[in-house]
Amino acid sequence: MYDVVIIGSGPAGLTAGIYASRARLKTLLIAGFEWGGQLMLTTEVENYPGFKEGILGPDLMEKMWRQAERFGTEFVFEDATAVDFSSRPFKASAGDNTYEGKSVIIATGASERWLGLESEQRLRGRGVSVCATCDAAFFKDKKTVVVGGGDTAMEEALALSKFASEVKVVHRRDKLRASKILEERAFNEPKVEFIWNSTIQEILGKDKVEGVRLKKTDSNEEFELACDAVFIAIGREPNTKIFKGQIELDERGYAIARDETKTSVEGVFVAGDAQDYRYRQAVTSAGAGCKAALDAQKYLEEGD
Ligand code: NAP
Repeated sequence: MYDVVIIGSGPAGLTAGIYASRARLKTLLIAGFEWGGQLMLTTEVENYPGFKEGILGPDLMEKMWRQAERFGTEFVFEDATAVDFSSRPFKASAGDNTYEGKSVIIATGASERWLGLESEQRLRGRGVSVCATCDAAFFKDKKTVVVGGGDTAMEEALALSKFASEVKVVHRRDKLRASKILEERAFNEPKVEFIWNSTIQEILGKDKVEGVRLKKTDSNEEFELACDAVFIAIGREPNTKIFKGQIELDERGYAIARDETKTSVEGVFVAGDAQDYRYRQAVTSAGAGCKAALDAQKYLEEGD
């Protein structure tokens, strides 16, 4: 029986692990088969405080893992496949085992939607990115492309316009889905141009992005565009499938949190991108993981 079972091993889960185990709570972290979350897929992280020269995403995650381990967090490197929050203790299954916890912290994050191209995965981290806040500064005075027509795509385009020499937004329709205010801002930014009714067929380049091959959705005409980076901003999916029917989710599948970290089940908390579609940063997730651990601690003290 654990005091806290944490599901997920990105910055939110690992920070929750550090705080919970340092508070002498018996803590299990179900880290997943591919542990570490989205930072394992990035290269240089330049905006996480404390690392003046930047740090590689996987190195940062290993440091957080070791820090949680140092205070006694136990790890299971398997995917959580089911949970039962209908009775206490709460249960979470991973691999062949079912673990019991007096409290649970959900920190399973979200996954980016990808176009599904081979070239996109090959050139990931070599000009293909899903985060302008993280990577825009690498493309000062470079030509960039953003894919998508929602709020995220507009924010990515505006963030890029502060660095890049040009930002071309490729959208599959002739109308944006984005909110009016962000649409207006993007339309008014001279560096941002739109390529309507077009989809990306291939990202060009051997070791780094050199361009994109596009196709017009109305005429099927194909054409190429030279660029140094492609930012994919076509939405994200929270990793909350196993919690459906267990806690309250919104219509897009994000966990609904009240009073910062509390889910609809008392004793079950949530932190990071499984709940937050707005900030989505390692440092905000780490902060949320800290809050969830403190809230779990308070719940255990008051409940016991
Ligand atoms: P979204 O609203 O779902 O928009 C995704 C965009 O990508 C759509 O324009 C969609 O095209 C396009 N798309 C989807 N799949 C595609 C594919 N396979 N190929 C090409 N294009 C594709 O996602 P989001 O922009 O990430 O926003 C998610 C939520 O967060 C929204 O509710 C948004 O309002 C919110 N958000 C708010 C803010 C803010 O307020 N500052 C910032 C970011 C996000 P179609 O339009 O043709 O479907």
